[in-house]
Amino acid sequence: MPEYIIPADLNEVQKDGSACVACDGRDGPMIPVGRVDGTQVFAHDGCAFGISTAARPLA
Ligand SMILES: [Zn+2]
Repeated sequence: MPEYIIPADLNEVQKDGSACVACDGRDGPMIPVGRVDGTQVFAHDGCAFGISTAARPLA
């Protein structure tokens, strides 16, 4: 589980908000965790817990 969202490390579905930025899963409820290139990105509730708020891009 990453502590940071690194835009360069996200795949296309993660960057367009279709997949969790932490685990790449596409099922289940997700919460917004920040923006990458102007697009809202999401993570599962449990995954987002491990993402540092300070590191969220433009959150
Ligand atoms: Zn996830």
